[in-house]
Amino acid sequence: MEQSGARSVLVTGGNRGIGLAIARAFVDGGHKVAVTHRGSGVPDGLFGVKCDVTDTAAVDAAFTEVEEAQGPVEVLIANAGITDDTLLMRMDEDQFTRVVDANLTGAWRVTKRATRAMLRARYGRIVYISSVVGLMGSPGQVNYAASKAGMVGMARSITRELGSRNITANVVAPGFVETDMTEELTPERRKQILGAVPSGRYAKPEEVAAAVTFLASDAASYITGAVIPVDGGLGMGH
Ligand code: NDP
Repeated sequence: MEQSGARSVLVTGGNRGIGLAIARAFVDGGHKVAVTHRGSGVPDGLFGVKCDVTDTAAVDAAFTEVEEAQGPVEVLIANAGITDDTLLMRMDEDQFTRVVDANLTGAWRVTKRATRAMLRARYGRIVYISSVVGLMGSPGQVNYAASKAGMVGMARSITRELGSRNITANVVAPGFVETDMTEELTPERRKQILGAVPSGRYAKPEEVAAAVTFLASDAASYITGAVIPVDGGLGMGH
């Protein structure tokens, strides 16, 4: 299917890890790509805007900067995310709300800011980077899993609200991917995870990026409200 030209893309947390692989895949596809960072700067060749997704004013300022540089955001990838793992009995309220604020409310903030222009353009592609654990659950990740499960309800509600305006909202649910985030896991936990993954290996960030660019492409124009796993078979059945 023919692509309808270069789009204005914004990837939150696109300065490293999965977000960076996603940003690079869009650049390779000929799109105009901006990525957010929280002060670390961005790798050479990418357009970076400073933005903490927990700060509504910073989100607004970042979008304004992107709009001036490359036009209104047409493709939004809500990828920024954190973990703060501990068992429920030890988890304090701040650990819960901080993770939900960054992962879920952050995704909502950027979505709300993006949809204004998407509605005007009658075009929009939104992809949420969730996680297999949002659907399977994971001990020690009540906060993280709740935030990632919330993205499914959000994408599906947006699909129902805005689907008729040529705006799609989908979820990509990666399994375990080689990044700084999984670097933190103990060797025992890594072994345990690999034992449970039918593919027997972690994903490369580029394998997640491939699903994301597909969902943003014209070929995926009738896919919305979907949850696409990229997990080596770990979450089968969802
Ligand atoms: P990394 O820890 O490597 O990168 C996280 C990114 O999110 C960084 O760019 C970070 O910015 C950004 N970020 C975190 N908090 C905020 C915030 N408040 N405002 C703006 N940016 C923020 O993680 P991954 O690349 O591994 O993960 C990317 C996404 O994929 C996350 O949502 C994660 O939950 C999800 N995921 C990851 C999996 C994995 O196995 N790695 C599996 C399933 C899902 P900064 O550099 O400033 O810290």
